[in-house]
Amino acid sequence: MTETVRDRLDQVRAGVAEAANDAGRDLSGITTVVITKFHPVSLVRELHALGVRDFGENRHQDAQAKAAELADLDLTWHFVGQLQSKKARQAAGYARVIHSLDRDSVVDALASDERTIDAFVQLNLTSDAARGGVPDDALEALVERVARTNGIRLLGVMAVAPLGEDPRAAFARLRSASDRVRAIDPSAGFISAGMSGDYREAILEGATHLRIGSAITGNRPTRG
Ligand SMILES: *Cc1c(COP(=O)(O)O)cnc(C)c1O
Repeated sequence: MTETVRDRLDQVRAGVAEAANDAGRDLSGITTVVITKFHPVSLVRELHALGVRDFGENRHQDAQAKAAELADLDLTWHFVGQLQSKKARQAAGYARVIHSLDRDSVVDALASDERTIDAFVQLNLTSDAARGGVPDDALEALVERVARTNGIRLLGVMAVAPLGEDPRAAFARLRSASDRVRAIDPSAGFISAGMSGDYREAILEGATHLRIGSAITGNRPTRG
């Protein structure tokens, strides 16, 4: 029998519930954002029919087009990719949550007196500056800048586990970074972490927002 999107969604939901139970955490404190990058809008509609409401994309152009095409559905869009400051303002037009604040220029571009957008500061857990995220030693300064900026409500920290490191250890470092952020902004205690291969470890280290793609959507189509 071929595995359907419904099967995969059920498997991930069961896996999330099991990890939450093992962590002694309430399932209601964990949001699964389904990352649909490179997949057609028909898949988003299918997942919506299965009860999914939180969706994520990592490229502004694709995300904007999908959000427009699916405007008839009650969806919450999350932007999880690297963002240039000139695209950041446009992303705020359809995304309710930006997971990837990583530099001053993006924070400044999102400043507004008219609307408030929810956001995570992305932390680079590697020593490779080419990876997304603010370096560890610049975290506090960026968080303080967000705190001074109208129009952004800081939710917490986000990260991607580095290749070649035990994800549990990486997410433990993210959790201590989260403590440092809460020392500055006590309301910013959310943690965006955990993908298809490591959401269990993320849940054990306190993740509140999982970003899960292929484990639910199946393999990504190759880009034409
Ligand atoms: C693609 C992507 C994910 C989901 O990855 P999967 O391994 O398919 O679950 C999560 N976070 C970010 C930032 C991504 O770009």
